[in-house]
Amino acid sequence: MIKEVERILISEQELQDRVKEMGRQITEDYKGKNLLVVSILKGAVIFASDLVMEIKLPLTMDFMAVSSYGASTKSSGVVRILKDLDQQVADKDILIIEDIVDTGLTLHYLIENLQSRKPRSIKVCCCLDKPSRRKADVQVDYIGFEVPDEFVVGYGLDYAQKFRNLPYIGILSKEAYS
Ligand code: 5GP
Repeated sequence: MIKEVERILISEQELQDRVKEMGRQITEDYKGKNLLVVSILKGAVIFASDLVMEIKLPLTMDFMAVSSYGASTKSSGVVRILKDLDQQVADKDILIIEDIVDTGLTLHYLIENLQSRKPRSIKVCCCLDKPSRRKADVQVDYIGFEVPDEFVVGYGLDYAQKFRNLPYIGILSKEAYS
């Protein structure tokens, strides 16, 4: 463990096991559908990469980037599309892959935005859920793990663009960002 991480919340093994389970469930649910996996940059990329390999179906992948916290640990509530999809979605069953749902504001905006393009369906899959801080009412269909109200890093999640490559989810020590 590195010194900036106070404690490991979810181990590498737990993450890998849960991703396999989620992949199996999604494979069952999306049989015969036209699955488009929309991964949200940058945080969800590592989770999405592991997850798609466990979805044993034909699928396509695309990416969206939205504004996030920057170098702070507080949500601004402002959502801006920095990179949009490269394709039309009218005949697609969209599965949005998010790293963590915190206030839900980002996801709420994304769902509304994608819904307006009239895809066949939209569902949401997140690696982590922090329900205690929810401000927007969003339905999350697949949840990896529930986490307490702590700032977490690793497995794609950053602090000031660092720590994304940790293979586990850890709680950032207070000294690392004070
Ligand atoms: P929301 O709009 O739900 O408040 O925030 C969603 C985004 O905030 C996530 O996609 C993620 O990028 C960032 N975020 C929320 N909580 C955490 C956290 O504990 N750690 C990190 N690294 N990012 C977080």
